[in-house]
Amino acid sequence: MPAAAMSEIVQSARAAGRGIGAFNVIGIEHAEAIVAGAEAAASPVVLQISENCAAYHGALEPIARACLSIAGSVDVPVAVHLDHATREDLVHAAAGLAVQSVMYDASALSYERNVEATAAVTRWCHDHGIWVEAELGEIGGKNGVHSPLARTRPDEAAAYVAATGVDALAVAVGSSHAMLTRDASLDLGLIAEIHQAVSVPLVLHGSSGVADAGLAAAVRAGMTKINVATQLNKAFTAAVRACLNGDAGMVDPRRYGSAGRDAVAAEVARLLRVIGGADDPVSPVE
Ligand SMILES: [Zn+2]
Repeated sequence: MPAAAMSEIVQSARAAGRGIGAFNVIGIEHAEAIVAGAEAAASPVVLQISENCAAYHGALEPIARACLSIAGSVDVPVAVHLDHATREDLVHAAAGLAVQSVMYDASALSYERNVEATAAVTRWCHDHGIWVEAELGEIGGKNGVHSPLARTRPDEAAAYVAATGVDALAVAVGSSHAMLTRDASLDLGLIAEIHQAVSVPLVLHGSSGVADAGLAAAVRAGMTKINVATQLNKAFTAAVRACLNGDAGMVDPRRYGSAGRDAVAAEVARLLRVIGGADDPVSPVE
């Protein structure tokens, strides 16, 4: 089947009070592993390609085509999403490749300029059938310059969604990008307040820095899309490192690559159970 629609995946998760895992792809092994993990957890999933990942591959097209092909090869719903695009031409490239959801990131701009730029991109995307996520309240950690103390105000979030027309909103509630430890403390009361104030699904970036219990609590408080990148890279790299350290004669990338892929698949399946509610003794089973 073709890649699934982000709107359907996210809206059904929000209606059920569940989280949806959105995992960042680096290479094709990541995409294969994320989808394998989703199959193991019998869960929908999002494959995300960041602007930085497209730059790593030299262009969006090769990695996007690989993700779309992998997304269409399995029985669980898989959406393919462009993550943290700061350039409009990349949004247009995504549309040309049939990538039907994007995160447009104007969070580094002032509030007024963020609204203006995001509203324009959202109008263009909606005219082309594309789902749009945007960010308000710069989430820490990208380029190492922003603080995890940043917070999105509920009233400003509601005004921003109304002014831009976005389909989902990434908010700053205590997490920070690229954390290697899982000890970020989320402001659960603020998540609940923003959830009350805003009609669209909320997105948590920097989820790798949040422990399992915090992720489950964030979903219970009203978070829907849970973005994870660094946590998978830690699993992939640890497995590859263990392989190479254990055998100085290993030169076939398929051997250590498959170890990395297996480790990512297991971590994706585990995280999907945490944020999808399956391992949460507090939530009733759907
Ligand atoms: Zn992010």
